Amino acid sequence: MSTVVEHVTCPFCGCLCDDLTVEAEGVEIRKVRLACSSGQGIFMDYDPRPRRPLVDGREVEWENAVAEAASILSAADSPLIYGLSSSASEAQRKAVALADRIGAVIDSTSSVCHGPTGLAMQAVGEPTCTLGEVRDRADLLVFWGCNPDASHLRHFPRFSLTAKGALTPNGRADRTVYVVDVRPTGSSKKADHFLQVDVGSDFEVLTTLRLLVKGKEPSVDTVGGVPVAQLKELVERMKSCRYGVAFMGMGLTMAPARQLNVAELFTLVAELNEFAKFSVLPMRGHGNVTGADQVLSWTTGYPFAVSFARGYPQFSPGEFSAVDMLARRAADAAVIIASDPGAHFPAAAAAHLERIPTIVLDHGPSVVASHARVVFPTAAYGVDAAGTAYRMDNVPIPLKRVISTGRLTDEEILDRIIEAVA
Ligand code: SF4
Repeated sequence: MSTVVEHVTCPFCGCLCDDLTVEAEGVEIRKVRLACSSGQGIFMDYDPRPRRPLVDGREVEWENAVAEAASILSAADSPLIYGLSSSASEAQRKAVALADRIGAVIDSTSSVCHGPTGLAMQAVGEPTCTLGEVRDRADLLVFWGCNPDASHLRHFPRFSLTAKGALTPNGRADRTVYVVDVRPTGSSKKADHFLQVDVGSDFEVLTTLRLLVKGKEPSVDTVGGVPVAQLKELVERMKSCRYGVAFMGMGLTMAPARQLNVAELFTLVAELNEFAKFSVLPMRGHGNVTGADQVLSWTTGYPFAVSFARGYPQFSPGEFSAVDMLARRAADAAVIIASDPGAHFPAAAAAHLERIPTIVLDHGPSVVASHARVVFPTAAYGVDAAGTAYRMDNVPIPLKRVISTGRLTDEEILDRIIEAVA
């Protein structure tokens, strides 16, 4: 049977573009309109064939896999639950419930991307906005340590650089665009101005911008490799724009000084509001990594790196973040949800993950699944499962089911595991 589903949300990246059209023949997706190449891959490469769970690499019945997972978690003294950023918020909530039930540490991929953003937000607040406001109003854009031209392919046309909105009817012509980064990128080539900072100098450059906003004069000609004259020009544009927005990425969060960089940018943006309307937005990578922060925050009070070992939530990045837990061999079992730390974690952390019994929930193959004790094949939210994800500006967006394979979702599998460990 042929189906055409309109207003489909792409679940791949933090843009959550919700204007796609997907055509399918039964469970085979034939065509996707408007998605970028990354989004096309999510739908067109999806393997809808039915799969059964695995225990030690052998196919088993669902109840046997659930029983094995429950047995591993019941025997563990220090279980870790990790991933979540490519799952739906309904399942993220169930993962927190499982962590609470078994006294686990729960962490998301935020701890290796925008964790410092969460810490800065707690320290100084976040003057934020929605992507709709950016499209409709922003006449000055500053991209700091991010390269959406390569990482978020429809960000420029839908929301920022070339997007046309109520007060920006001419799109690109109505905007001045700065890129600040340690090297030229595809985004810097499309900007009006590129400020190349020395590696590790973001904090000094941001502090100098704050100094200049306050009308003070630095005693040097160059800061972090950038001439002060160029910084003065940027400050003048920031103070005189109608509506400015700064987008910041992992070039800032994972550079030396981490959350201090982000706190300095957030403070700069807050101070600019004495002169012009100005906001800041983190460029979030995975489709629902923002949802992981949201769900953990409303259920535990903290956005990531939360331990339930004492029966109540404790927050300690560096102690309860997954890389640190694994690298110091503090976890003795793991549940990995829609993520592949086996492919992306530092060697010491990935090696410990291979030593401990691991339970994986994912819709596709992964390095971590290849050595997991239990693997649950799941539906993919936004493809064969419906759910909710949070866009990078914290707006919740519905994910549609565009084909029906009958696969269980992360949420349903976690429900079964919670029931079994109880
Ligand atoms: S920009 Fe992101 S959400 Fe939009 S279509 Fe591409 S991958 Fe999907």
